[in-house]
Amino acid sequence: MNEAKDSLPTHPHMSNDEFRRRAHEVVDWIADYMRDVETHPVLSQCEPGDIRRALPDSPPEKPEPFETIMADFERLIVPGITHWQHPSFFAYFPANGSPASLLAEMLTAALGVNGMMWITSPAATELETHVLDWLRQALNLPEGWQGVIQDTASSASLCALLCAREKITGDSVNQRGFHAQSSDAPLIVYVSDQGHSSIEKGAKIAGFGRENVRKIPSDDEFAMDPAALERAISADREAGFRPAAICATVGTTSSTAIDPLDPIGHIAEKHDVWLHVDAALAGTAAILPEFRWMLDGVERADSFCFNPHKWMLTNFDCCVMFCRDTERLVRTFSITPEYLKTDAAGVIDYRDWGIPLGRRFRALKLWFVIRSYGLEGIRAYLREHIRLAQRFAEWIESDAAFEILAPHPLNTVCFRWIGDGSMDDPELDACNKKLLDDLNRSGKLFLTHTRLKGRFAIRLSIGQTYTTERHVHGAWEQIRSTAAGLRE
Ligand code: PLP
Repeated sequence: MNEAKDSLPTHPHMSNDEFRRRAHEVVDWIADYMRDVETHPVLSQCEPGDIRRALPDSPPEKPEPFETIMADFERLIVPGITHWQHPSFFAYFPANGSPASLLAEMLTAALGVNGMMWITSPAATELETHVLDWLRQALNLPEGWQGVIQDTASSASLCALLCAREKITGDSVNQRGFHAQSSDAPLIVYVSDQGHSSIEKGAKIAGFGRENVRKIPSDDEFAMDPAALERAISADREAGFRPAAICATVGTTSSTAIDPLDPIGHIAEKHDVWLHVDAALAGTAAILPEFRWMLDGVERADSFCFNPHKWMLTNFDCCVMFCRDTERLVRTFSITPEYLKTDAAGVIDYRDWGIPLGRRFRALKLWFVIRSYGLEGIRAYLREHIRLAQRFAEWIESDAAFEILAPHPLNTVCFRWIGDGSMDDPELDACNKKLLDDLNRSGKLFLTHTRLKGRFAIRLSIGQTYTTERHVHGAWEQIRSTAAGLRE
């Protein structure tokens, strides 16, 4: 034994004492970063290739001191970071975090658990089951629904599409492949023309084919038109196609439009089509009693997902997926080679509830967040973001040089500059694109865009953990003054 020990080369690891010292330094760095994040430009000012050009072509042969690595992190990496934790990050949807979540993430990394099965860490599995039931209660989802944490909403929606495919084909694609289906009529997926691209991507990957995704028209408020959905399904059935899945969106990416789940659920039930609800951002807001109406009718859905990593103070990544019938998940995903067999009975092995075998212990950060804030704290935080978005919308509405382009029930406002009203849409598109570019280049805030009814729209989405009225008002001032320059 000693002989083997003695023959080891120089110990390659940090000593425990050094680790302790370095960890304190890193935590100090993180705390300073959280305090000073506003001193960084929100959008990285790097040009493509800048970061790689600064890195050595080949890996180091010799170990490098921690100080050098940390100094390079600050010198080379931080300038290439777009600061999602900056309170003036108003782009896309947020990926927010919180001290509680971050601390739990450190513990997760330290434990290094792979929670693929109950036996590989009973606490990882049982805590996941438990906190997801807390969330089920918080969102007032039906009793009996069970949840699983996926990495992202894209993965959750792909899982839902795979379940829908297996349900309609009687598990035959999983078993015998596409060619052995009883019918070669295409399987059809329905999503509104405002649905997220991950649904189309999922349809590609799951073998439905992009051509078999029907983009159902949305109404004036950008929500799916259920009558158009009914017509599309009926037409497909008449043509001999097989309607397989409907993906409804609660909180569309462009404008947070809310598809009406109740009529959509009735249509799904009538035609026996899998209904998946993608509430990636907005699901969190269903914790607010005054916003629970968004999920009216969700009890008819087969699956539902939302991202605590977007708006529930939980750092990326963490998507919660609930299913009415989790046996369907297991039938779709389970596969048990000899080396994964265990004697544990009556337990959940989450590897059977999704695509990857290995799973991070994400429930820990959810547990820390929910306990640290309490549902009351989370509700207060959401209400403040929604209040700020409504305030911002009032400022837009009070200025004749701007207009709102979509309803803004939640935290996201879509608008454009219209100047004195004399320009046509193509000219306005070009001006608003320039306005957006100028704003983002300033480094003071970061906004992104979309198109609504063909028009270029600037989106301001409020959801960063430390955003206050000062930041939103600052954004408005900056938008106004930058837009004033457009006239020159
Ligand atoms: N669905 C909706 C409605 C979204 O807005 C987004 C991203 O913003 C997604 C899905 C994709 O989320 P993820 O990055 O978790 O896959």
